[in-house]
Amino acid sequence: MKPLRVLYIGGTGRTGSTMVDQLLGQFPPYFSGGEMAFFWSRGIEANAICACGDAVRDCPVWSHAIASITEDPDQLAARMVALRKLFRWPHIFAMWVPGFSRARLREIHDIPANAERIYNDVAAEQNVEVFIDSSKEPHYSYILREGSELDLRFLHLVRDPRAVGSSWKRRRAEAGLNSGEFMEQRSSPIASAFYMFSNIVSELFWRSKPDRYAFLRYEDFVADPAHILEVIGDFAGTPIVADAVLDGLSFPIGTMHTSWGNPSRVGRTSITIRQDDAWRTELSRCDMIMLTVLNLPLLLHYGYPIRPSGSRRSTLRSSRLRRADLSKR
Ligand SMILES: [Zn+2]
Repeated sequence: MKPLRVLYIGGTGRTGSTMVDQLLGQFPPYFSGGEMAFFWSRGIEANAICACGDAVRDCPVWSHAIASITEDPDQLAARMVALRKLFRWPHIFAMWVPGFSRARLREIHDIPANAERIYNDVAAEQNVEVFIDSSKEPHYSYILREGSELDLRFLHLVRDPRAVGSSWKRRRAEAGLNSGEFMEQRSSPIASAFYMFSNIVSELFWRSKPDRYAFLRYEDFVADPAHILEVIGDFAGTPIVADAVLDGLSFPIGTMHTSWGNPSRVGRTSITIRQDDAWRTELSRCDMIMLTVLNLPLLLHYGYPIRPSGSRRSTLRSSRLRRADLSKR
């Protein structure tokens, strides 16, 4: 049996990944599982609300997947959460130390092994060819790639760092929990540190696999969603015919089962594809300067203008999925 293809949306948070993820999930046999890196902590331990409206443990899709595991789900979730603590941001650079990487991957092998079981169960039950995991965290994609038989393909999604920084400043309630929690907020310096780190690490982890890595700017996706969806389909190995998806139009979405992610995933019935340029007026002058200066290397690398009113560099290299270009680096 061929290994399941997993389209991993990676990079950093607040890049418009929820919209890309949800749209892709409208084209079966694509299936959007949400941010699966948090399946054990949010999905099982906190029993968060799935996008279908049921709690994850009651959702017909996830309850079946959980039942397919022979171990007690509470004990397993606690073990998975504990293992994740062995591979967090501070450990990432140690992965290039000879010997450490292999030893640590052996230690946390249960993480990719159990993720693979869950993905495969959903795939078998829902006739899925491409499972979409929008976890973003590049180090989690590395664990999955190195510790499972999954056919992982990394879609590196980026967005103008000032739009990302502006989104991190907004105060929004979590929709998937009953505890009244709010989404994490980050100051401009912290958001910039994560932006630089996550995106650089994404490229470092995947530069050795150019045929399984694709790069996409959110702004280019929004400018021509039908075309980009079709190119993503080519990259993921299952064609997508998306001529009904157009910039500025609402696209109806059916019942989804994203287990965790942005609160906007819950109860949504349609998606309006738009650039969302509110950051241009929402950011203070101080934040605008900080986000521009602190992210300058990647801002230029990804073809964004230094002046917010400028236009993006619109070359083939930076404006489309460009795995072919990246393979030449
Ligand atoms: Zn569900």
